[in-house]
Amino acid sequence: MPESQTGSVIFAAGILMPVSSPPLQDGAVLVREGRIVAVGDLADLGHENPDVEVRFFPNYTIIPGAVNAHAHLGFRRKDAPEGGTFAGWLGKLIEHLPAKEAWTAEAARDCAREAIEAGTTYMAESSPYGECLPQLAESGLAGTVHAEFFPHEIGTPQEAVEFIIAKARELGEGLPGRVDAHVSVHSPYTVDPESSRLAARRTREMGWTLVIHLSESQEEVEFVRDGTGGLTDIFGANQWGGMGVSPVRYAQSVELLAPETIAAHLATGVSEEDIEILAQSGVAAAHCPRSNDFLGCGISPVPDMIGRGIRVGMGTDGLWSSPSMNLFEETLFAVELHGMSGATGLELATLGGARALGIEAETGTIEAGKWADLAVVETSPEDGDPEREVLEAAAGGGVAATVVGGNVIYNRLVG
Ligand SMILES: [Zn+2]
Repeated sequence: MPESQTGSVIFAAGILMPVSSPPLQDGAVLVREGRIVAVGDLADLGHENPDVEVRFFPNYTIIPGAVNAHAHLGFRRKDAPEGGTFAGWLGKLIEHLPAKEAWTAEAARDCAREAIEAGTTYMAESSPYGECLPQLAESGLAGTVHAEFFPHEIGTPQEAVEFIIAKARELGEGLPGRVDAHVSVHSPYTVDPESSRLAARRTREMGWTLVIHLSESQEEVEFVRDGTGGLTDIFGANQWGGMGVSPVRYAQSVELLAPETIAAHLATGVSEEDIEILAQSGVAAAHCPRSNDFLGCGISPVPDMIGRGIRVGMGTDGLWSSPSMNLFEETLFAVELHGMSGATGLELATLGGARALGIEAETGTIEAGKWADLAVVETSPEDGDPEREVLEAAAGGGVAATVVGGNVIYNRLVG
């Protein structure tokens, strides 16, 4: 199959699920120079564009590609620390870091490939100092790498923040058109309050998104509120804990909560008052339920957050806390966990992630004007809950082709 970003092509399938509008039988997408020009019946679009090549998948369903709102590429299944408790797992992870350097790049390549083969088209990745950017950029995915920084390794809060801003700008040079480098304030227990506040201000000045792991574990709640617990044992030098408030309230106090911020997890200790703060600030959430399950981090109040108008996307996190980079599999887990409909799940995995990342004008649904970011799934759902059937197929290895900006970056079909 020719793989060209230029020219025109029609992608069509037995069922087309645009997410932004009802499913279409024998639906088609006209793509020109990577963007969607029209969505409609195959018969009509084919008739109106007789010279355009048609790639028709009669027994398949075309859906928007998955938008992974929170992931780490630099892990592999092998050597994963035991789960059960967050602090226990994190302590082991830190012990493994020196040995991990030898294989991080290879893991990042493999993880990006696994995500693509599961229908992912956009990924918000977080890695120390943006170390996984090369592998994301060469994978064919669209996405943003959020460079994490650890102020104690650098200097004063001012020096640390200016360092990571300069680093992200440098990383951002010469990238493919749909790949960016932004910044992550890793967490309330690794980045001090002053560095957090400065990073929040500086990234907003740059017009960047900002990622933070927030309210993930009971240990984090204890660290922020009481200055005690398992994380204090690991990060004994980090003396700013014990502020008597929840992680969400703390994050608000250092200006971390804003529409440009994506708060990953929000799994443990998120009160109704916290949900109100999150809603008022316009912050987005990335829901990683399998990682939360593995690390004993409880269940994120996702239905309540959605009900309060908070933008929620799905995230796989990384392979040391999660079984796969398949965002549709992550989403099916969430659908079962929260008793959601398949339609809600499919929306969370696609448009929800795009909204959370502020890129819903560019991707997340199959609509004219957006990039042609598509997943071709081996299923022909009929009655009942067709979106759930598609999620189940995509979760179970049923993605047959992945298209990013009109470019076929994965195709296991003949032709
Ligand atoms: Zn994470």
